[in-house]
Amino acid sequence: MVRVILVGPPGSGKGTQGELLQAAFGIPKISTGDILRAAVRDETPLGLEAKHYMESGNLVPDSVVIGLIEERLQSEAASDGWILDGFPRTIPQAEALDALLAKLNISYDCVICLDAPDEEIVQRMLARGRDDDKEEVIRERLKVYRDKTAPLIEFYDRKGSLQAVNGNRPPEVVSAALKELLQFEQPVS
Ligand code: AMP
Repeated sequence: MVRVILVGPPGSGKGTQGELLQAAFGIPKISTGDILRAAVRDETPLGLEAKHYMESGNLVPDSVVIGLIEERLQSEAASDGWILDGFPRTIPQAEALDALLAKLNISYDCVICLDAPDEEIVQRMLARGRDDDKEEVIRERLKVYRDKTAPLIEFYDRKGSLQAVNGNRPPEVVSAALKELLQFEQPVS
C-alpha cells in the first residue's frame, strides 16, 4: 500500500512522476489540476468557477479543492493507495487533508518534494504549451508557489515526513529514485 504526496513547483515533474508511480504501483494518481482542467473543458459549474483563477495563474479557493479531494479519497478507486499530485498547495489545504485522513483512519507514507531551478521550470513549461503555460502566467504561478505552497515544505519537514528529490534530472532517473525511496518508506504515524 503506497500513499504519497508530491509537492514542488509547477513544471517540476509531479505530473510525469505521478503517472510513472501510478503505473509502477497500480494505484491512482489524484491530480486536482487534471480534475479542474476536465471540469473547465466540460464547462461544468466547477469548471466555470475555476477557469479564471487557472487562466491567471492563481489558486482555486481552498474550499473547492478540499471538497474535490474529500470525494476522491473516499472513493473505491483510492482504497488501495494513491498519489496526490498538486494537492495540498496551501497550509489550510494540508490541515484539511490531515483532518480527513485522521477521520478515515489512514496516513500517508511520505511527502516528496521535487524541485528544479526556476529557469529550467519556465523552459519546460513553455515547451509543454498548455493553456496556462504562457510566460507571464508561468511567472505568476511560480510566485504563487513561493508565497502559498513553499511553506508546506517546512510544515511537512517538521512532521518528519518530507523527502527532497532533485527533479532537475531526466524523468527516468527521477523515477528510479522515487521508486527506491518508496520501497523503504513506512507510513507516518
Ligand atoms: P496543476 O496542473 O497542478 O499545475 O494545476 C493547474 C492549476 O489548477 C493551478 O495553477 C491552479 O489554478 C489550479 N489548482 C490545481 N490544484 C490546486 C490546488 N490544490 N489548490 C488550488 N488551485 C489548484
